[in-house]
Amino acid sequence: MSNHLFDAMRAAAPDNAPFIRIDSTRTWTYEEAFALSGRIAGAIDTLGIRPGDRVAVQVEKSAEALILYLACLRSGAVYLPLNTAYTLAELDYFIGDAEPRLVVVASAAREGVETIAKRHGAMVETLDADGSGSLLDLARDEPADFVDASRAADDLAAILYTSGTTGRSKGAMLTHGNLLSNALTLRDYWRVTADDRLIHALPIFHTHGLFVATNVTLLAGASMFLLSKFDADEVVSLMPQATMLMGVPTFYVRLLQSPRFGKEAAANIRLFISGSAPLLAETHTEFQARTGHAILERYGMTETNMNTSNPYDGKRIAGTVGLPLPGVTVRVTDPATGQVLPPEETGMIEIKGPNVFKGYWRMPEKTAAEFTADGFFISGDLGKIDRDGYVHIVGRGKDLVISGGYNIYPKEVESEIDRIEGVVESAVIGVPHPDFGEGVTAVVVRKPGAVLDEKSIVSALQDRLARYKQPKRIIFADDLPRNTMGKVQKNILRQQYADLYT
Ligand code: ATP
Ligand code: MG
Repeated sequence: MSNHLFDAMRAAAPDNAPFIRIDSTRTWTYEEAFALSGRIAGAIDTLGIRPGDRVAVQVEKSAEALILYLACLRSGAVYLPLNTAYTLAELDYFIGDAEPRLVVVASAAREGVETIAKRHGAMVETLDADGSGSLLDLARDEPADFVDASRAADDLAAILYTSGTTGRSKGAMLTHGNLLSNALTLRDYWRVTADDRLIHALPIFHTHGLFVATNVTLLAGASMFLLSKFDADEVVSLMPQATMLMGVPTFYVRLLQSPRFGKEAAANIRLFISGSAPLLAETHTEFQARTGHAILERYGMTETNMNTSNPYDGKRIAGTVGLPLPGVTVRVTDPATGQVLPPEETGMIEIKGPNVFKGYWRMPEKTAAEFTADGFFISGDLGKIDRDGYVHIVGRGKDLVISGGYNIYPKEVESEIDRIEGVVESAVIGVPHPDFGEGVTAVVVRKPGAVLDEKSIVSALQDRLARYKQPKRIIFADDLPRNTMGKVQKNILRQQYADLYT
């Protein structure tokens, strides 16, 4: 019997090698992690969970939580991780939508979750941050040499909910083939080997920390320092023992704020990778000046895993997400007609490849609407491919501002605002406007002590942007609302300023 994804992980694991490093006193070797994953797979099986059944997991980050993901793969269950920030009411939606047979939560949450789970016909077991819990108690009685369920490339490995940045989260159905092909591609593209030691400070309920970081580590037989969260000081201290860091842009902004961080701290790191949200060109440039390292930015999404990456050897260009990965086709089309656009023209980014998901869980109409007749996934992101083949993202289709009949790409306006002395960052949104349909509106974060007002920003933009692109109002804020993945939540800003022009 073969298990498409886990067989490849097992084959890649070197003998007697470390997989997860917790701290100087605790390391999990591949053998140990696989043995526990076999026991947990046994427990899942004993509970009556069959291949294709969903196992929803809302637990703190820990080695055991990652091993539970492996156990699900091995038992054939569909792994369904949930953001630890979700409230009981949100959990109710996800459990009702995904109908898992089993929900795994922290023991402190058990009581509350049990009421919801019962209503939806699911069992509840626990797993705590320290690795204890009822699921692990059950696993202790199971043998380590579990016979893996047979899973083919087309079988579901996971349902991963999107981050909910633009609306309600959708469950993306990802197959064993989706995950394996993308992880192998990234491993080779980024030259990850068994000698690599990754600093893993991302959450493990999202594609970045779960699939990019974890699957790539496993398929290279490499190891990772598993940190419960990102702490700049802790990460700087670990760097001399590590070779790679994967982060969201905020990690890099925070590292640059640390006086301890510089060339020396970064000396042993081979590769800094950024994704999940746009990395400001300024952060890229400042990072390079400080450390000599060009951050490698890549682009992906829950539905597709990773699509593009700046090259390992070639030029890593600030403000771009790089080239389509081998085997992945990226094109840009006219959102109105669907016609494929030539280089340098901005439109809808569409993606095709073995990485692209099977569809949204129980949303056949939505799935059909997001694919073209010739099988490309309509990403919802707007961008262009330049003459050298690099992909530039200008923002999400839903964030496009249409004012007085003109299309305004927020990123273009934001880049101009961000160049103004005294600006930290900005978000440009469209807000209902009685004359223009939408009014271009900028929310700006100033550097401490900066003397900048609405007038000075408006006048700085006079000669830089066509009049219709210039913000009608500038609003100052202490910071921009971000979700756990560091993504700016423009829907919150749009709500907040909905009445600005009325
Ligand atoms: P939802 O689909 O629920 O609104 P979401 O799109 O934020 O949420 P994810 O799948 O986590 O959920 O994020 C994918 C999106 O993140 C992409 O579509 C893109 O807009 C953005 N993104 C990822 N990497 C980058 C990057 N390097 N630069 C710019 N944007 C990025
Ligand atoms: Mg999305």
